[in-house]
Amino acid sequence: MRQYIIAGNWKMNKTVSESVKLAQEIVQQVKDIKKTEVVIAPTFLAAAKVADVIKGTNVKLAVQDVHYEDQGAYTGKISVDMVKEIGAEYIIIGHSEQRQYFHETNETVNLKVKKTLAAGLKPIICIGETLAEREGGKLESVLQAQVEGAYKDVSAEDALKTVIAYEPVWAIGTGVVATDEQAQDTQKFVRSLVEKLYGASVAGALRIQYGGSMKPDNAAGLLAQNDIDGGLIGGAALKADSFFAIIAAAEAR
Ligand code: PEP
Repeated sequence: MRQYIIAGNWKMNKTVSESVKLAQEIVQQVKDIKKTEVVIAPTFLAAAKVADVIKGTNVKLAVQDVHYEDQGAYTGKISVDMVKEIGAEYIIIGHSEQRQYFHETNETVNLKVKKTLAAGLKPIICIGETLAEREGGKLESVLQAQVEGAYKDVSAEDALKTVIAYEPVWAIGTGVVATDEQAQDTQKFVRSLVEKLYGASVAGALRIQYGGSMKPDNAAGLLAQNDIDGGLIGGAALKADSFFAIIAAAEAR
């Protein structure tokens, strides 16, 4: 059975002190959570302080991006080694906001995925279609290009260390959530793409999160779907109570 993974993506929200406070609240709330993997992704600026707060707890650290070079003249960027040193376990790669606003492509996603895996960290690889792509009949081709792009030259053994977050772009931050059936159908398709690349055993083990306006009131329905193994949560992860309610829905499965 695949372990649920609920990850909070705080995006460009919370000062360092606010991040520390939210992390402390989350640690307190999830201390009895046993089955579900809980991950939080603060800003780079807050990540080291948040790492101190969650050290030795059942909350894991992610960051929201990374650069694919080791070091050097890349103003504003952060390397995998820097992320690793503070104890992060996951790196979110290819978020639609990165793709939309910061020139992320399937090629740069692939470079970041390989760099992350080479350092022994785990990528959360975000994929998803825009509304125009879905309505224009391009859903499958877009997802196929994103999956094949992300995993180019990644071994099956390494692929198993990754998590995919399927996030329909039209559902992110909009309050419009995919229906349980839409999410399930698409995630089943995504799993079939993984199967084509790596075979049934890797596809059956690889976790696929849903992301896009997942909230306490729709989480149980989404998480009940066969191919939904957790959530990547934006807005609802910014308050400990709503984040915990989603974690509790996963834990109750
Ligand atoms: C996200 O940004 O990954 C996300 C899913 O955001 P929200 O939950 O706010 O839609």
